[in-house]
Amino acid sequence: MEWVVAEAKAVVIGAGPAGLRAAEALVRGGLRPVLIDEAERPGGQIYRQPPAGAARAAAQLYGFEAKKAVALHAILPRLADAIDYRPRTLVWNVFGNRLDTLGPEGQGGLAFERLIIASGAMDRVLPFPGWTLPGVFTLGGAQIALKAQGVAIGRRVALVGAGPLLPLVAHQYARAGATIAAVLDVTPLAAKVANAPGMTADAATFAKGLWYTLQNAIAGLTLRFGVRAIRAEGERRVVGLAWRDAAGRAHRVDCDAIGASFGLRSETQLADLAGCAFAFDAVTHQWIPQRDAAGRSSVPGVYLAGDGAGVGGADVAELQGERAALALMQDLRLPIDTGRATTLDRRLARQARFRRALEAAWPYPGHLVDAIADDEIICRCEGVTAATLRATARERDAQEMNRLKAFTRIGMGRCQGRVCGHAAAELLARTLGKDVAAVGRLRGNPPIKPIPVGGLP
Ligand SMILES: Cc1cc2nc3c(=O)[nH]c(=O)nc-3n(C[C@H](O)[C@H](O)[C@H](O)COP(=O)(O)OP(=O)(O)OC[C@H]3O[C@@H](n4cnc5c(N)ncnc54)[C@H](O)[C@@H]3O)c2cc1C
Repeated sequence: MEWVVAEAKAVVIGAGPAGLRAAEALVRGGLRPVLIDEAERPGGQIYRQPPAGAARAAAQLYGFEAKKAVALHAILPRLADAIDYRPRTLVWNVFGNRLDTLGPEGQGGLAFERLIIASGAMDRVLPFPGWTLPGVFTLGGAQIALKAQGVAIGRRVALVGAGPLLPLVAHQYARAGATIAAVLDVTPLAAKVANAPGMTADAATFAKGLWYTLQNAIAGLTLRFGVRAIRAEGERRVVGLAWRDAAGRAHRVDCDAIGASFGLRSETQLADLAGCAFAFDAVTHQWIPQRDAAGRSSVPGVYLAGDGAGVGGADVAELQGERAALALMQDLRLPIDTGRATTLDRRLARQARFRRALEAAWPYPGHLVDAIADDEIICRCEGVTAATLRATARERDAQEMNRLKAFTRIGMGRCQGRVCGHAAAELLARTLGKDVAAVGRLRGNPPIKPIPVGGLP
C-alpha cells in the first residue's frame, strides 16, 4: 500500500495548554499550523473536557482555573480556519522530518519543516504490594474519571501520593461527594514547611495550595505525611489499604478503590525518536529532553514546550508554548514581537524558582523503591518480577537499562516502559550499587503506543 505523506511548514503535537498557545502564536505570526492530538477534544490534562454533548459547568470542572480553561477552549473555535486541527490522531513515530499518525482516517504520514512537541506528562507509578489489583488507579486516572466521565473510581476511596496532585484530587473527590477513607502523603511534612518560602515565588499558586489544604481540613480530611510501606489489600479486587506512619506504627482502612501515584513523568518518547539530547534531572529522578530557554531542542527545527520537557505545570506550559512558537518563527526569519519574548522569558524564570521549591517540597520517595519485595510484579505487561530484575543485574552483567530489557523483556509490552521503566531503573541502580543516572534509560521505539498492524506499509 502506498504511504501518503503530506507536508506542513509547522506542526504542533499536543492540544494541551502548551500546544494550544503555540498554535495560537503561530497563527498570529501568519502561519497555518497543523495541530495534532490523540484526545477527542482540546485542553490536555488539566483542562480536559468531558465528551462532546456531556456539558458541565467550567466552574464545577476546573474550580479556580475555570477562566483559564474557558480561554484555552475558546482558541480553536476562534481560529477554526487558521489551524489544521486533527483530534483523535496519535503520532506514533517521528522519523527524520516525518511523523507517522493513526487517526479517524487510518494510518497517515506527515512531513514537517518545523515541529513543536507539547506531549505533556503522565502519572509516575511505583509498584507496591497489591498495585495491580482491580480498583487501584493512578491519581491522574482518578481525576480523569471525575473530569471526563463524571464518575468516582469507587464509593470509599483511599488516595496516596507524592506531589500537589494528592491534596487537589482529595479536594475534588470530597467536593464531588465521594467518601474518602485516607489521604496519605509518602513524603515528609517538614519538606513542605522548609520550602514554603521558595514557593511564594508564585504567590497565587502557593495561596491556592493553602486554600485546598484548608478546604480539605474543613471537609474533615486528615492528610497524613511521611507514610511508608503502603499495601493494597484484597484477593480479587481492593478491599483495604494498609500503611505504616513515620514512627513505624501500622494502620489500615477499608476502601473499594485506591488512587496512587508518585509525582508526574514527562512523556518524552517523541522527543527521543526525533533525536533530541536528554539529561538526567537528579531532583525529579527523570531523563528530560534538553531545551534552551526559548524551547529549541538539540535538533534543528524541533522545539519542546510544556510538561513533556520537564514538568512545570499548566501556567508554565502556556508560556513555554507561546515562547517556542516565537522561537520557531524567529528561526524562519519571520518578524516577531521581541518585547513579548522578553516578557515570557522573565515570567518563565520566576516560575522556574517556584518549581524548584515545589519539587523539593515533595522529594523523590526512594523508600518505596527500597521496600519493593522480590515477588513484586514490576512489568505487568510481560510479568517481570523484581526478583528477575535483581538476579539479571547480578548474574548476567546487565549494567544498563537496554541490556536489562533485552534479557528480561521489561518495557517491551503495551506501555513500552512508560509505566514500569522508572521503577526498573531504580531497582537496577540499587542492585548494582550505582547512581540511577548511570544505568541510563530505555531507548524509544515506534510505535510509542499500541496501534493495529492493519494498514501499515
Ligand atoms: C493525569 C494528570 C492530571 C493533572 N491534573 C492537574 C490538575 O488538576 N491541576 C493542575 O494544576 N495540573 C494538573 N496536571 C498537570 C498539568 O496537566 C500540566 O501541568 C498541564 O496540563 C501541562 O500542559 P501541557 O500542554 O504541557 O500538557 P498536557 O496538558 O498533558 O497536554 C498534552 C497533550 O498532548 C497530547 N499527546 C501526547 N502525546 C501525543 C501523541 N503521541 N500523539 C498525539 N497527541 C499526543 C495529549 O493527548 C494531550 O492532550 C495533571 C497532569 C496529569 C498527567
